[in-house]
Amino acid sequence: MKGHSTSIRGADFCRACKSDQLFSAVNLGALPIANELSKIRLNEYDSFELNLRICSDCGLGQVADVVSSDRLFTDYRYLSSASQSFIEHAANFVKNVTEKLSLSENDYVLEIASNDGYLLRHFIQSGIRVLGVEPALNVASVAILQGIPTITDFFGSKMAEDIVSQHGYPRLIIANNVLAHVPDIQDFMKGISILTNSETLVSIENPRLRNIIENNQFDTIYHEHFSYLSCKAVSELSQKFGLLLVDVENLETHGGSNRYWLRIDNAESTPLRSVMEEMRKDEAINLFQNSAWERQDFLVQTYLREFREFLQEKKSQGKSVFGYGAAAKASTLLNAARVQSGEIVAIADASPEKQERFMPHMNLPIIKPEILSSLNPDILILFVWNISTEILKWIETKGPSGIEVWVTIPELKRIL
Ligand SMILES: [Zn+2]
Repeated sequence: MKGHSTSIRGADFCRACKSDQLFSAVNLGALPIANELSKIRLNEYDSFELNLRICSDCGLGQVADVVSSDRLFTDYRYLSSASQSFIEHAANFVKNVTEKLSLSENDYVLEIASNDGYLLRHFIQSGIRVLGVEPALNVASVAILQGIPTITDFFGSKMAEDIVSQHGYPRLIIANNVLAHVPDIQDFMKGISILTNSETLVSIENPRLRNIIENNQFDTIYHEHFSYLSCKAVSELSQKFGLLLVDVENLETHGGSNRYWLRIDNAESTPLRSVMEEMRKDEAINLFQNSAWERQDFLVQTYLREFREFLQEKKSQGKSVFGYGAAAKASTLLNAARVQSGEIVAIADASPEKQERFMPHMNLPIIKPEILSSLNPDILILFVWNISTEILKWIETKGPSGIEVWVTIPELKRIL
């Protein structure tokens, strides 16, 4: 396909392989930007098409480039350190990979999207040199203040060349939960390939596209999340830039992630059986077939209607409904279901960066979890199903008593 001048990446052609064989998989309509949490109530929020499409050639799920990256990422208010389970996940990873690669003081580790340094700080503790890349200034400054060297810009092939000339090749490159957030995924992978020599191992973590069908995780679709990775898509994209997908691990994080291991494609590298096994799991549910997604889209639309009816029913019974977790997934669900203001009173979130702001488009106030009890909620809906165990523990020990607790995904279900 040629001449993309008037066509849109992610809608008319695939952002990974440029094929025009994309089909609509889950269409959520026009939605506001999930992570734009206003400090004041707004009369109107901009909204943009949110339609997950799948490339039937390379297997990448994607949404179209309809909002600029500058608007999406300059004021990013997600600090990794805010989640306890995430910190533990990071510590375990560092311990295992340090052993696996026998990392020493002579090596350095590069992390792309290093956030507030929640992961790199564990390497520093073991005396291993690190370098972070984090474009969100407010988040990167937290890392820098703690002595974690961090480049504050978007990663790409140009930056990769600068890093190699200044620091040499890293022994390990980590890119967790970032590949999906990159509009130009080809330049990103090219950058990784520039930084990879025969000694370098690349570790990429990201939720699986398959989760949307297997566990109804349609609420992970939002504008910042350009790509929805499958093993097939990662393998094909890597190959384009001389890298080979050698191993895949299934992880529990974010409702089911894959950790992809890449290295330079030479005579010594061969994929482990895990790669083929993972691809078979995707094919077994027809992940790249239109028919499977027609069914999923129907299930999502039904879910959204029933979710809205649930809130309306509770409101008519005089129940006060609150939410927990002002994450992007909450915004996707609430807005795709066309929930109106008043149907949920407020949403609690432990992250100070989000508190005292409003979630689009119903201007839902974000409050401190500690004040929930004083507001006498009858029902609490957990939107952050990925950390529901952690939140439940908090409710049972410190949270409001005598309330109903519901979780949203995979189905709206009462859990307390
Ligand atoms: Zn493609």
